[in-house]
Amino acid sequence: MLVPFANENVSEISCHARGINYSFPSVRTILDMGGQDCKAISVDGEGRVTNFVMNDKCAGGTGRFLEMIADVLGLPLAEIGDTALQSRTAIPFNTICAVFARSEAVAYLRKGVSRADILAGLNEAISVRCLNLLKRVSIQSDFSISDGIAKNKGMVAKITEKVGLKPLLAEDPQLAGCLGAALFAKDRVEGKGKREEMKIAYGYSDGTGEYYITFDTGKCDGCGKCVEACPAGNIEVGRNDHGQPKAMVKDSVRKKIHLTCPGYKACSAANQVNCHSACPNDAISHSW
Ligand code: SF4
Ligand code: SF4
Repeated sequence: MLVPFANENVSEISCHARGINYSFPSVRTILDMGGQDCKAISVDGEGRVTNFVMNDKCAGGTGRFLEMIADVLGLPLAEIGDTALQSRTAIPFNTICAVFARSEAVAYLRKGVSRADILAGLNEAISVRCLNLLKRVSIQSDFSISDGIAKNKGMVAKITEKVGLKPLLAEDPQLAGCLGAALFAKDRVEGKGKREEMKIAYGYSDGTGEYYITFDTGKCDGCGKCVEACPAGNIEVGRNDHGQPKAMVKDSVRKKIHLTCPGYKACSAANQVNCHSACPNDAISHSW
């Protein structure tokens, strides 16, 4: 939501990290499970983001996805967590793509499979995807889950099982980002400000592999040489939370990056100059 009197932008990721740090200073790894996407965040003891990966390729596993599944199963959203815990045999799902998972859920319902077993199967598939995301930032204790899905007991139980760490859960995890934003605002009123340096990975993993381009924002000075070098036009220079110029993957290609970028090795073989060789600060890395 746009606030007409806003005079600064702070990213949602930084706000979640700060909010969770306020409640649990010992947390070093956060899984932010929101309505639209899912993020794995590494955080230091002062609530600063040190590494972050987002999987925003599709709606599968997000709050919006669970709303849709609750609707298909004819259950109130608030009840799907407890219902999943009653499962005896989780049904394996081939996908958590929002469209296909919906069709699978409808087909299972028609076959008479219980709602609990359907939900437990979806939680299993989603938690495996969350675990893979968390591994990309390296999982360190303590661990926490923020945002609305942290209130879903069935999902939290499955993620706890997969990650092998019991998450520290705030009383109102859906408000962690708001709390963080308020703490940043308080800092500004008190004349404090912290420069944040972190690695930001853009991309996703899917059935064919892992496709992440990572920018080390501590090293990037926003010179734009990678933008000029990229033959596919994948990169742009934008502004971070503190108004500093930083390179990033264009929003328009983040969900299809492995189609627009052949990967570092293939790009190097085909082009004399690419984003890596052009960068004077060694700020870019590829996972493929
Ligand atoms: S590897 Fe090549 S195509 Fe991919 S982002 Fe870098 S310059 Fe662009
Ligand atoms: S070339 Fe390197 S330092 Fe320059 S904007 Fe790109 S990532 Fe940042």
